[in-house]
Amino acid sequence: MIPASFEFIRPTTLAEALALLEKNPDAKILAGGHSLIPMMRFRVATPSMLIDLNQIGSLSHLQENGDSLRIGAMTREAVVERSDIVKKRYPLLFDTARVVADPIVRNLATIGGNLAHADPANDHPATVLAYKAQLVATSPRGERVIAAADFFKDAFTTALSDDEILTEIRIPKPSGRSGGAYFKLERKVGDYATAAVAAQIALDGNGRVVSAGIGLTNVGLTPIQATAAEESLKGKSLDDGAVKEAAKLASEAAEPIEDHRGSEEYKRHLVRTLTNRALNKAKQRAEGGGAA
Ligand SMILES: Cc1cc2nc3c(=O)[nH]c(=O)nc-3n(C[C@H](O)[C@H](O)[C@H](O)COP(=O)(O)OP(=O)(O)OC[C@H]3O[C@@H](n4cnc5c(N)ncnc54)[C@H](O)[C@@H]3O)c2cc1C
Repeated sequence: MIPASFEFIRPTTLAEALALLEKNPDAKILAGGHSLIPMMRFRVATPSMLIDLNQIGSLSHLQENGDSLRIGAMTREAVVERSDIVKKRYPLLFDTARVVADPIVRNLATIGGNLAHADPANDHPATVLAYKAQLVATSPRGERVIAAADFFKDAFTTALSDDEILTEIRIPKPSGRSGGAYFKLERKVGDYATAAVAAQIALDGNGRVVSAGIGLTNVGLTPIQATAAEESLKGKSLDDGAVKEAAKLASEAAEPIEDHRGSEEYKRHLVRTLTNRALNKAKQRAEGGGAA
């Protein structure tokens, strides 16, 4: 189908984009376009104006700064996936970027678009929950830092106000003994998840869990933070019993519905299995394994 008509504007600065958004409440931000353009073609979205962020270089960056890895919202999935620092120090993010769609989509799709779209089937939301990341929203009023746990309000709905642009994602720098992993089951390569689990853990010198983050993909209207499962791990060694208990709690936190990808029972079982695998891989990496 052909989208309804719209005005197309390509600002070159963030200030210009923010001013346009403030003046045009029916406008939509265009990032990689891989979710928005299909919605416009089906006329699910009919913005009067597209504000294209692709000319704003300041929104594409990826570097450690202070206590976090800072990623500009317009950073392409392919850049995240190919980054050495992500591969070496942020294996959960590395795992995630590699399984978003397919290489062609990843060349254009952005991490900011993936989060701002808030599709429960998207992969990055569970990962930012597990990292307990911060998301920076910018408006004409200035910057606002939103905890990932407060960002996803409903399916396709975030905490961003109409005049805010997601500008940066901040992932806490890993402590000495930490690791993470993302496990996704998809029906075929490039598909959205039937279910997926993101896990990030930090261990003390005795191998006990200091902090744990567990996020679930596509088993509810929003990404789900499995808080009871996270809490159950604190202060414990990540042995079989602790991992199994956390996996059970994560499956209980899931809110799947039956669809063409499987039954509710099947998806719960999947969450349990994938949590088990993600925690074991996270432990292996925390104990010295790299991103592999
Ligand atoms: C064939 C195919 C398979 C896919 N498979 C997967 C998959 O397996 N896993 C997965 O996670 N995703 C998948 N996707 C989705 C893909 O990752 C999208 O590109 C992504 O969800 C949106 O990113 P984008 O940069 O393309 O954003 P756009 O499509 O440009 O924008 C999406 C929405 O977010 C808003 N937006 C974008 N950037 C900002 C910002 N900085 N601030 C505020 N609002 C903003 C837009 O206004 C729009 O409403 C797939 C897409 C395709 C086409």
